[in-house]
Amino acid sequence: MLTVNAIAAPSATEPLVRTTIERRDLGPRDILIEISYAGICHSDIHTVRGEWGEVPYPLTVGHEIVGHVREAGAAVTRHAIGDRVGVGCMVDSCRECDNCKAGYEQYCLTGNVGTYASVDRDGTVTQGGYSTHVVVDEDFVLRVPESIPHQAAAPLLCAGITTYSPLAHWKAGPGKRVAVVGMGGLGHMGVKLAVAMGAEVTVLSQTLSKKDDGLAFGAKHYYATSDPATFETLRNTFDLIINTVSAPIDMKAYLSLLALDGTLVSVGAPPEPLPVGVFTLFSNRRSFAGSSIGGIAETQEMLDFCAEHGIAPEVEVIGADEVNEAYERVMKSDVRYRFVIDVDSLR
Ligand SMILES: [Zn+2]
Ligand SMILES: [Zn+2]
Repeated sequence: MLTVNAIAAPSATEPLVRTTIERRDLGPRDILIEISYAGICHSDIHTVRGEWGEVPYPLTVGHEIVGHVREAGAAVTRHAIGDRVGVGCMVDSCRECDNCKAGYEQYCLTGNVGTYASVDRDGTVTQGGYSTHVVVDEDFVLRVPESIPHQAAAPLLCAGITTYSPLAHWKAGPGKRVAVVGMGGLGHMGVKLAVAMGAEVTVLSQTLSKKDDGLAFGAKHYYATSDPATFETLRNTFDLIINTVSAPIDMKAYLSLLALDGTLVSVGAPPEPLPVGVFTLFSNRRSFAGSSIGGIAETQEMLDFCAEHGIAPEVEVIGADEVNEAYERVMKSDVRYRFVIDVDSLR
């Protein structure tokens, strides 16, 4: 066992505190990663506060991880000591079910092993990336190209792949009109990625406060959803809408924006069910879909795509003692666009 410094939530209601956690001894296919940066995802906050169900405490979260390989097990072939690598939302899966075999480990039929708050194959509870080191099976470790700025790379492992996967699956590209709902951590990456894929991108945000940023990221149009005229103007417009908002939305209003065979994909997760009027789906043969992160091969494809197109998240780097304050700011959408913890501050 390796004892490492970390930040953990003692309970659902207390602030996060500095502590130590245990990492397992390296198995033959394991890699020890010295973490450089860990992104703060909205899911981390929902999870530590018990808003998505009961979790075991103390809990260390964080599933946007970048760092370097420091040790490798005897049978490791995919990564070498010194490589810059990343870990996202999962650290294992059954590898045998139809979905795993097809490269969709995120949809593992027995459930993938989440990077935190999941039961690992050895029966222990997984602990996330707000820590100095992590031990992960090499198959769930990604190569992070050196051309991606180090401190900006971490959010690609969740925010990046969560938006890339549906954009790729529903073929965002030249001639496609894509709307991104919400201009937060996920939304700003959705805009950059869809623009790089060649789509005509529109941002639908509550207000116009981030309009200059959206246009700078390559969006052609930017509308406020607080203005009812937006929904009149844009009726029957989009081939694809990526909804990154984790609060409930007016489904009828948003579905009405879809053109023929258009799809509204939710990647934000409101805890309550959303009522969908089927008649709204009849018009234009519309679809309503969900999408969850991406498989390991697709996550690598996304990282390579970002390197090739010079895309990186916009980040605000903080120290370990600023995490609680950062959580409050995330809750108020007061971040442009992702907090990243400089893990050196934990050493
Ligand atoms: Zn996340
Ligand atoms: Zn599986």
